[in-house]
Amino acid sequence: MLSKLIFIATLFFSVLTVYSQSDNGVNVYTKLIKVNNKIYMLQGKGGNIGLSFGNDGVFMIDDQFAESIEQIQKDIKTISKKPVQFLVNTHFHADHTGGNAILAETGTIIFSQENVRTRLLGMINEEKKKIPQEILPMVTFSEDLTFHYNGEKIYVFHIHNAHTDGDAMVYFTESNVLHTGDVFFNGKYPFIDTENGGSITGCIEGLEKAIMVINEDTKIIPGHGDVGTYKDLQNTVNMLSIVYKRVAMNYINKKTEEEVVKMTDLTKEYDENGYGDGFISTEAFLRVIYNEVAKERGDIESNAEKNRKAREKVEKMMEEQAKQKENNPPKPSQNIKGSTDLD
Ligand SMILES: [Zn+2]
Repeated sequence: MLSKLIFIATLFFSVLTVYSQSDNGVNVYTKLIKVNNKIYMLQGKGGNIGLSFGNDGVFMIDDQFAESIEQIQKDIKTISKKPVQFLVNTHFHADHTGGNAILAETGTIIFSQENVRTRLLGMINEEKKKIPQEILPMVTFSEDLTFHYNGEKIYVFHIHNAHTDGDAMVYFTESNVLHTGDVFFNGKYPFIDTENGGSITGCIEGLEKAIMVINEDTKIIPGHGDVGTYKDLQNTVNMLSIVYKRVAMNYINKKTEEEVVKMTDLTKEYDENGYGDGFISTEAFLRVIYNEVAKERGDIESNAEKNRKAREKVEKMMEEQAKQKENNPPKPSQNIKGSTDLD
């Protein structure tokens, strides 16, 4: 009875939402959201998928988990019978690359920034989990890449050390749609994978780079969350920069990590707007920033210390030289070389 009710409620509220069960009995839910005539966002368990449909075929960004891919393929077929020819992974995390092997089997060519492939290969070699070789992207790039597909230029560009060390964003130039990967969580504190090369400063710089590529009418598919706008992206850059500066000030004023995470005024206006209600809590966010600031300031301090020591050494040497000159003034004859001594 209950299941029947849920089924009716689902039909009633959203015809685009699909609940199904995969072969291994896992419940799968997906939702296809139209961004414009040819670009769709697919939400489900894991990162947001971007899809471009057109005469050439299907172009896909990220593919969530292996357990959902069968349902995702069915959803794609409701829009186009053409194959998924190209797939771009925005980074290596499993909720964005889990469907890779199954898509590769159907002939999809997978692209990513080179660090994504290196990280995935590392996971395969560690053998912690059984991961097939086929998840590996076949084509990698270091900085950027352009596709000419479905009637538009699709610009893929690397963001350095932001969410991870292999992030890429994808910009559909005609459609004016940007997929940011996880560098942008719309309206939520971001997850920064510092163990895999991520950093807050990299996120800020990356989002600033994105702002230069797009314009005020751009529609934005975030890594997680709902479709956003230029303004949403700008708000996130401001939030990150402001909170970073506040934490840095407190660090300079010798506040400890434990003291900083208890300072509710550092994030007050953002907490009130629900930024801390997502995957990353306010406390976790502040800890990541504090540790990054500490590391950066530590580097600055240790460099200043090294420079101070080097300066002292030079000053000491000069003092000693001056003393020596005072004690042993050179005799005029010592400075005159013999005429046979020319070299
Ligand atoms: Zn991620």
